[in-house]
Amino acid sequence: MATKSLHKRESDLANSNRQLEILSNGIFQNGELPTFKSKISETNQFPLKAKKLEILQINVGYMCNQVCEHCHVDAGPDRKEIMTRETMQQCLDVIKTTGAHTLDLTGGAPEMNPNFRWFVEEAAKAGIKDFIVRSNLTIIRANKKYYDLPEFFKKHNVHVVSSMPHWTRGKTDKQRGDGVFDKSIKALQELNAIGYGMPDSSLRLDLVYNPSGAFLPGDQASMEKDFKKALKEDFNIQFHNLFAITNLPISRFLDYLIASENYEDYMYSLVEAYNPAAVGNVMCTNTLSVSWDGYLFDCDFNQMLELPVNSKVKHISEYNEALLEGRHIVISQHCYGCTAGAGSSCQGVVA
Ligand code: SF4
Ligand code: SF4
Repeated sequence: MATKSLHKRESDLANSNRQLEILSNGIFQNGELPTFKSKISETNQFPLKAKKLEILQINVGYMCNQVCEHCHVDAGPDRKEIMTRETMQQCLDVIKTTGAHTLDLTGGAPEMNPNFRWFVEEAAKAGIKDFIVRSNLTIIRANKKYYDLPEFFKKHNVHVVSSMPHWTRGKTDKQRGDGVFDKSIKALQELNAIGYGMPDSSLRLDLVYNPSGAFLPGDQASMEKDFKKALKEDFNIQFHNLFAITNLPISRFLDYLIASENYEDYMYSLVEAYNPAAVGNVMCTNTLSVSWDGYLFDCDFNQMLELPVNSKVKHISEYNEALLEGRHIVISQHCYGCTAGAGSSCQGVVA
């Protein structure tokens, strides 16, 4: 398993234009497969338009203590892009006034941003209904300075959402790195010990599953049952919901698909599983994604592909909800990942 980001390895695919080229050429250029635009046009759903903002997702930096095989952020310890306090302040000004019901902090490992705790303390004061931190769990056990994170999350009523690709050590470590499973289990037990994830607790703990290879996720509800049973029986761990997320063909997952010669087959499966009913609810229709340097994107995937919002408003410092509403969403073939089967978003299925 690679221990460096595509950027550090100076891979071709570290370049977002190269990724977009791959997604537009070959089977999509020669007409073997329809482009996403032509597919959604069949049901008059082009252009996709942003509705009222409900979820503000902020990526506070690409630095991470892990280098997971399928990371769409290309995160890792070698990534130095980190949101400054000044940009965080600009985000806070928006958080205080927006009508969004959910604030979603992501990374990298958001906790590694030196201003993370200050930001959480300030953002929590805005009283947003659902305040999510996407924690990779192992960060809680990575260094003594993070050991109190569960208590910190509890103090600010943070909703913890964490990746857990499987309930077995082998499958988890293969995708996320050696030792990740044991640390994740320990972190989950610590979160449970202070009330996170317990059946009647208001301290929300959800897990995210994404497939460990070039295949689509199974049924979310039955996977949740299997995860709950196995984690309870083997480790006495409880959690609330499991979100099944499809891997989008970008960044390190695209690299994996190409290296394993699965790219075309995977794109065929995504297109075959296309579900027009999922299109209206893809997450870009009610979400705005902010990058570490304050720029605005329709979603975290478009952020990684450096496809900015199609609006006069480009940066959080010039935020204007009315101008952003109704904007045309920027799409490419990676969007098939959001409309396959029951659909996929940062909160699991959408259809
Ligand atoms: S923990 Fe998340 S952000 Fe970090 S490398 Fe893994 S998938 Fe990427
Ligand atoms: S990848 Fe982003 S822009 Fe494309 S459908 Fe999914 S959420 Fe929307």
